[in-house]
Amino acid sequence: MKCPFCCADDTSVIDSRVSEDGQKIRRRRRCQACDKRFTTYETVELRLPQVVKHDGSRAEFDRNKLLTGFKRALHKRPVPTSYVDAAIDRIVQKFLSTGSAKFRHVVLVKV
Ligand SMILES: [Zn+2]
Repeated sequence: MKCPFCCADDTSVIDSRVSEDGQKIRRRRRCQACDKRFTTYETVELRLPQVVKHDGSRAEFDRNKLLTGFKRALHKRPVPTSYVDAAIDRIVQKFLSTGSAKFRHVVLVKV
């Protein structure tokens, strides 16, 4: 990886550790040319399925849109945010494990 300060190609990893939740790897790097240090994070890149809308058009899956939908549906109802987050997590998990999930107005499929 290039040094963000001097753009030299020669940087080395001086420390790697897994984040507390196990979802990220944090690496401390040092530039061999200018000796500056920087941190990079490594995470899993997940390709989420596309959303097939009611009219047949497709859109990228967007967690925020799902959240907006939930908020709209639950407007002025006493549902804790943590429940909504958990529900969205379950939907995302279902996507990733089965490749599809059906809802009343949208059908989600993996492509
Ligand atoms: Zn450098």
